[in-house]
Amino acid sequence: MSQKEYRVLLYYQYVTIEDPETFAQEHLDLCNELGLKGRILVANEGINGTVSGTVEQTQKYMDAMHNDPKFEDMPFKIDEADGHAFKKMHCRPRPELVTLRLEDDINPHDLTGEYLEPKEFYKRMQDENTIILDARNDYEYDLGHFRGAIRPDVRTFRELPDWVRENKDQLEGKQILTYCTGGIRCEKFSGWLKKEGFENVGQLHGGIATYSKDEDVQGQLWDGQMYVFDERISVPVNQVEHVVVGKDYFDGEPCERYVNCAEPSCNKQIICSEENEHKYMRGCTHECRTSERNRYVEEHGLTEEEVQERLKRIEEEDGVQAT
Ligand SMILES: [Zn+2]
Repeated sequence: MSQKEYRVLLYYQYVTIEDPETFAQEHLDLCNELGLKGRILVANEGINGTVSGTVEQTQKYMDAMHNDPKFEDMPFKIDEADGHAFKKMHCRPRPELVTLRLEDDINPHDLTGEYLEPKEFYKRMQDENTIILDARNDYEYDLGHFRGAIRPDVRTFRELPDWVRENKDQLEGKQILTYCTGGIRCEKFSGWLKKEGFENVGQLHGGIATYSKDEDVQGQLWDGQMYVFDERISVPVNQVEHVVVGKDYFDGEPCERYVNCAEPSCNKQIICSEENEHKYMRGCTHECRTSERNRYVEEHGLTEEEVQERLKRIEEEDGVQAT
């Protein structure tokens, strides 16, 4: 088996951490000593992290964590990589690991949906009475999702409970399956669903990251790519077939390439081809394109005349007002 020199780890553990501030500081020191890069959140309720490093560095980190009784059983999802997936190392204390902003917080140790391993999840997805609910954000869904999964119309995780209450009739009496990237969001979300009175709630244990590596299911019934919160932006899931579901923001053509709007204060993530990135100067609106802070214009050293030429072309081809 060929092995790359770097790895990206994804992990979480719901466990009581008495003094998150001190823990975060010491944990940051450990990560820096090891030479890792990434993002880790520490809260009273546990830890949630993703880091990158060489095979040796990441192995030392996993060993160190497993030597701590609090994290001795913590599962790590491991991706091979060609290099670091982050630029810096952050480890920060937070009030919550995932932001649901519930009136009464859910402790997954007390209440959570049934844990389903990939094979079982794959089977139950195909049951007639099943509703598959994506517990991620809309821009994650848009790049890839389980076939037939519902896309809650929410920009952030904390809007999910309201969405469920407004769409209760769709979900009542069904087997509800939830999934997210690594499983951490579903721990709370599926618990919250049970608390709301939904009885038959299952969650994908270990998330899509685990599902994609399962030798039996091989990522089947997944369409598109999985959005990840590091420099890779997306990773493959389905090893058997690849169906593109992403659509170019500008022309709706199949596409799986995410970029950020070049206007810094907008920064919106849009799926767009290289060709359209140039055509639209990576601006999601006319305002973003013509903003004097547009990064694309700066990166490419466009003169005012060249900017005007591109705007004119957009106007001619799309019929959009260029002024
Ligand atoms: Zn924009």
